Amino acid sequence: MLWVAIIGLVMTVAAVAMAGRRALFLVKLATVGPPAPERIAYAKANVGQEIKAQLVEVFGQKKLLKWTASGVAHFFVMWAFFILLTVYIEAYGAIIQGAITGRPNFHIPLIGTWGVLGFLQDFIAVACLLGVVAFAVIRVKNSPKTLGRGSRFSGSHLGGAWLVLFMIFNIIWTLFLARGAAAANGNFPYSSGAFVSLALGDVLPHSELLEEIGLLLHIGFMLVFLVIVMNSKHLHIFTAPLNVLFSRRPDAMGAAPELRVDGKTVDFEDEDLDPEKLGRGKIGDTTWKGFLDFYSCTECGRCQSQCPAWNTDKPLSPKMLIIDQRDHAFAVAPYLMAASNEHAGQDVLALLEKPLVGEDGVIHPDVLWSCTNCGACVEQCPVDIEHIDHILDMRRYQVMVESSFPSEAGVMVKNLENKGNPWGMSEMKRADWIEELDFEVELVEDKMPEDAEYLFWVGCAGALEDRAKKTTKAVAELLHIAGVKFAVLGPMEACTGDPARRLGMEYLFNMLAQQNIETLNEAGVKKIVATCPHCFNTLANEYPQLGGTYEVVHHTQLLAKLVDEGLLTPITPIEEKITYHDPCFLGRHNKVYSQPRDIMSKVPGVQTQEMHRHKDRGFCCGAGGARMWMEERIGKRINTERVDEALTTNPDTVSTACPFCMVMLGDAINEKKNSGEAKESLEVVDVAQLLIKSVKSPS
Ligand code: SF4
Ligand code: SF4
Repeated sequence: MLWVAIIGLVMTVAAVAMAGRRALFLVKLATVGPPAPERIAYAKANVGQEIKAQLVEVFGQKKLLKWTASGVAHFFVMWAFFILLTVYIEAYGAIIQGAITGRPNFHIPLIGTWGVLGFLQDFIAVACLLGVVAFAVIRVKNSPKTLGRGSRFSGSHLGGAWLVLFMIFNIIWTLFLARGAAAANGNFPYSSGAFVSLALGDVLPHSELLEEIGLLLHIGFMLVFLVIVMNSKHLHIFTAPLNVLFSRRPDAMGAAPELRVDGKTVDFEDEDLDPEKLGRGKIGDTTWKGFLDFYSCTECGRCQSQCPAWNTDKPLSPKMLIIDQRDHAFAVAPYLMAASNEHAGQDVLALLEKPLVGEDGVIHPDVLWSCTNCGACVEQCPVDIEHIDHILDMRRYQVMVESSFPSEAGVMVKNLENKGNPWGMSEMKRADWIEELDFEVELVEDKMPEDAEYLFWVGCAGALEDRAKKTTKAVAELLHIAGVKFAVLGPMEACTGDPARRLGMEYLFNMLAQQNIETLNEAGVKKIVATCPHCFNTLANEYPQLGGTYEVVHHTQLLAKLVDEGLLTPITPIEEKITYHDPCFLGRHNKVYSQPRDIMSKVPGVQTQEMHRHKDRGFCCGAGGARMWMEERIGKRINTERVDEALTTNPDTVSTACPFCMVMLGDAINEKKNSGEAKESLEVVDVAQLLIKSVKSPS
């Protein structure tokens, strides 16, 4: 057996050396950019939360299991990697023991003869093999060759994936060859439990050579696999747990990431601030967390399959956004890592200086500006890649350094700067809706009125846009009926800054946010209710970054509570079939799925019908990520796609809980009515409008 040990150990040293060299290269490349100290600080300060994330996401495969077939297959393949480590301990033990004693009958001390372990090893190997078969079937059924753009694998490196499946298959059959031969030779440590290996031992011939070949093949395939993994998308085996560990909690949604330069939060008052460093303009501006995202992408395409931009024929695929950056990073890696490129040729320098975004850049501007920040990609990604953070940082550079963004959005920016709202209307109009009510609404005059429990944050749309004003009035009336005391800021309220921030105009966001925080803090505001999910998200999740901390609820949360407490009683039946559209910034970004549905379920007569894509798989209306203020020139309109889906439920009404969704869906419904595809009576309403209709007796 000496020759077996020598070959085995030589192969091991060679493969480990290759893998180690690659690992060093990857670490060096990942650390060429700015640091991300906040990620380490957070992980250190929240050890319990991070352990839970590892248990749930990595070991429990929570996100993968949302997709049942591929999730179960992956669950078994991943656990095979852990459990079969014991088989490799046995294999190495056998070749070493064989070389020393002449008999490769090694067993792991203490547990190495337990039938339970033998069973577990054989069971997981069989399950892994079935998993590989399932993956192969899934890949064939979802082949880009047959489904084209509709395949989640469209754009992925397909050859590499098949090679990895082939390698896993080789590892498993050689495992059984080695174990079966060991059983036939009387060298197998288990006398029970290992059902496949023992059965093979009964049929295989007594042959030491067969056992030796089995062992070498089993070890050899594993080592080749290791080298392939280190050089392919399967690197995620090692990087995914790290990516989960350092991901932005709770789920890289809700708040946008703070703008940082050289690892420090940007202070626009700082005279030493280098404006050229705002956002990400070149691949070298990527932090190690960004590189971890690149290394972790499995090219599974779950993100792509859910993306509203991709699904309406726009060039943006969140998967390709990551892959394209990764491929570019690898292409320029030697020059990025070089101490000096003084003697590099023009072509090298051009590659190194290639802009991340541009007509000839790594990412086309149409890709960057197609994103609605809906979060569908982040929600689905099994390895916690933060696509929105990548997009936002690139937008920040485009807007603040290059002044390059869709011209239509420029009008919105000017209006925010001059009037504090995206429509450019006078701030005095913000309280006009109050005059249409038949009860008094208190206005904050410097301080919150003593008896007011909530500040009702009306939002620009809620105050100035006709359709959204209906929601505002319905919420005010419901609070009034329930006896909840509230006040509004009226002309003192300005845009929260959400559209500016999502566009990448961080400076303007900062200005608006600080102005609002000053107003709120001076007024002594503690509790806020907001009707717009974008305002709700910004107030609740982003203002704390700037020192504004309040208890913020969305109106559907408060109204559901008031209905529950019996302070609002829906009595008038609404005999309608209603389908509810989840606003992305309420649902995915803030996990408010149940309350709007709870409210509707309490309204007598309402028959609810879910659309195919709902809750965490809900489909965007097309307005998020400042897209509300840009033209949609490429592909099918996202709002039309969503209304097409709503129409498949044959609804009398489409309900939602966001003023922007109301506008987007309302526009698409009007088009459908004009073309005769939707009935004239079809309308889109806020859940609050349904509730007030039912709470009030028919007049
Ligand atoms: S946030 Fe939404 S629109 Fe943007 S890339 Fe992700 S899925 Fe696509
Ligand atoms: S980004 Fe995430 S979801 Fe998208 S392909 Fe990569 S691993 Fe899959």
